[in-house]
Amino acid sequence: MRVIGRSRYAFAPLGQSAEAVHWPLCHPATFCVHHDAQIIRRAAACGVGRCKLCASSLYQDIEQIMSEVSQSVSELISQLGKLPGIGRKSAERLAYYILRMHKDEALALADAIRNVKENVRHCRTCYNLAEGDQCAICLDPRRKQDLLCVVEQPRDLLALEQAGVYDGLYHVLLGRISPLDGIGPEQLTIDALVRRVREGAFKEVIMATNPTVEGDGTALYISNLLRELPVRISRLARGVTPGSVLEFANKEILADAMTGRQEF
Ligand code: ZN
Repeated sequence: MRVIGRSRYAFAPLGQSAEAVHWPLCHPATFCVHHDAQIIRRAAACGVGRCKLCASSLYQDIEQIMSEVSQSVSELISQLGKLPGIGRKSAERLAYYILRMHKDEALALADAIRNVKENVRHCRTCYNLAEGDQCAICLDPRRKQDLLCVVEQPRDLLALEQAGVYDGLYHVLLGRISPLDGIGPEQLTIDALVRRVREGAFKEVIMATNPTVEGDGTALYISNLLRELPVRISRLARGVTPGSVLEFANKEILADAMTGRQEF
């Protein structure tokens, strides 16, 4: 007898509908699918593995049902399991949730994924996400054309936009230099950035890479490449987070805060 997974949820034969029910394996159903199509009863004691009427294995019934309906379900679980932060259990839960969703809602989700993959691409100028050739920021004439902010990913750009304090242009690197992960400068959009700065009329380039070893290394690499060009290179200020206290700040944060101190 093979127990199907170790999940507390099983694909249960609840009538003819595809419903996931709470079904702890230590209290399996008392009747097989043929003798209890409507109600999943729980055994009073642990270890009951056979139908009370025909003595066929309940687990085999589940296995049978799984093998009949599960090719699509397994594929969905497998695809969901590839998402970051989603393990096997979460993928199963999401898959069964999708199975229970209204068809229109589930198909709207599928359409949203398809549309994103078919219509969204990288802006040819700044490599932000765009639905056309260029993103909305590059096409906006009200943005300051002489200010360029370099970020690692489109989500970093979004965070800065949500802060609402920057009105210049951006350049998205699509990553950061990380030799340990096999990511070198040639895999990023650094060549395009240097070309853009050389050919453009930027007065200042702001390094807004993440304050990590790789982020700092990437910013240093780029600033060395831009050093020859007539442009001011700056980086985001860092320091003690508002609302925190000095005693809990680590020495790197305090060193950054002291170095980047401002006029009162
Ligand atoms: Zn753009």
